[in-house]
Amino acid sequence: MDFNDTPQEAKFRAEAKAWLAAKAPAHVIPAGITIDDAEEVARGKAWQRTVYDGGYAGITLPTSLGGRGGSVIEAVVFAEEEASYNLPKGPYIGIGLGMAIAVIAKHGTDEQRARFIDQTLKGDLTWCQLFSEPAAGSDLAALRTKAVADGDGWVVNGQKVWSSWAHRSDWGILVARTDPKVPKHKGLTFFVIDMKSPGIDIRPIRQISGASDFNETFLTDVRIPDSDRVGAPGEGWACCMTVLMGERLGSGSHKSMVGPLIDYAMATPSYNSGTALDSGGVRLALAQALAEEQGSRYFEARLRTMVSRGENPGALAGIVKLAYAARLQKTSGLAMELRGMDAIAPASQDAATREVQGDYIWSTVMRIAGGADEVLKNQIAERVLGMPGDVRMDKDVPFDQLR
Ligand SMILES: Cc1cc2nc3c(=O)[nH]c(=O)nc-3n(C[C@H](O)[C@H](O)[C@H](O)COP(=O)(O)OP(=O)(O)OC[C@H]3O[C@@H](n4cnc5c(N)ncnc54)[C@H](O)[C@@H]3O)c2cc1C
Repeated sequence: MDFNDTPQEAKFRAEAKAWLAAKAPAHVIPAGITIDDAEEVARGKAWQRTVYDGGYAGITLPTSLGGRGGSVIEAVVFAEEEASYNLPKGPYIGIGLGMAIAVIAKHGTDEQRARFIDQTLKGDLTWCQLFSEPAAGSDLAALRTKAVADGDGWVVNGQKVWSSWAHRSDWGILVARTDPKVPKHKGLTFFVIDMKSPGIDIRPIRQISGASDFNETFLTDVRIPDSDRVGAPGEGWACCMTVLMGERLGSGSHKSMVGPLIDYAMATPSYNSGTALDSGGVRLALAQALAEEQGSRYFEARLRTMVSRGENPGALAGIVKLAYAARLQKTSGLAMELRGMDAIAPASQDAATREVQGDYIWSTVMRIAGGADEVLKNQIAERVLGMPGDVRMDKDVPFDQLR
């Protein structure tokens, strides 16, 4: 495999770079400024609209669905170049592009594709993911939110949790139990849900940082028309797998985390003489981090190539997420160490160090979000390495007979 750009990819990169240089700076969020959620979403929508107008939205999506019909590599190239700018691209945009469009394109009806894909690509619709519940996170198929058929639609009751940015979302992707008489993975159905529907109560969860990125979402007698069901009743698990595969494959970083640390070490005077990079210990830590980053980059390229050939990476996608989460935590820890005591108590005007501190605190969440480390390791052990399976007493038992 040649990891350098082909002439065609190099041309695409140059075009994307020039386009971004012209359009992105006006949308960049400067380091150290705090904006409220409403303004962030407005800025995120404006940037996504700019991307759409520039012809870079939905790069891998077929032109028949409103995308660019480009290659996976082009999508990676654009994401790498876009990552050079601090743009508003939170879950309110990412869930729509990475999850909702993926599931609707693959499992939805033509009517749903026409209704949602273009609007989402334009940034007109924001989305949240209503999967996790208080007793169904790693074991997602144990979820209890139920949808009961009623007339030309469904009535939904239950509780979701950790719903990122649900308080600012127009629509949600929802999985609910529609048949409790079959084993847990088989009785699930997938829906899109209008977050303004009567009966939805969104309660923000206050984080230690003071922010509220997540919510508890209570659903009481919420009516969903059957036209908002995605896939057949009982096929919700296949839809969830489409979503989770995209989430895991998309979790790698498109921006070098180690490059800026090397620049920082080169520019920072050492206590003795020279720069921090003159220290053997610093060089060793940076070299290890860089080697891991490059290894992950090449592995991600391999899996994306598989996807572009129409192959299914299956549990291999979990390796991307597992490696990324560990690297993120390790590299952001290294960034803290390089800044020494300043990183513990940064001066209020030192926006760069405060950002490093924030990244370090945030890095822990990736060990859990989108599939916890231990659960991914179980899947990789069983499905990639062929090791004996975990004991699953409930696998073939009807859900309503589980204790
Ligand atoms: C930043 C962030 C954003 C999120 N956003 C969303 C969102 O928008 N929408 C949404 O639906 N959910 C979201 N989640 C929820 C996320 O999907 C769950 O937190 C995750 O699936 C783990 O579930 P849990 O929190 O219930 O932990 P649990 O499943 O209770 O796990 C607790 C611990 O037990 C371990 N464990 C569980 N089962 C096993 C096993 N079989 N073997 C070994 N160890 C095991 C886990 O690894 C973990 O360490 C988000 C989470 C985070 C952190």
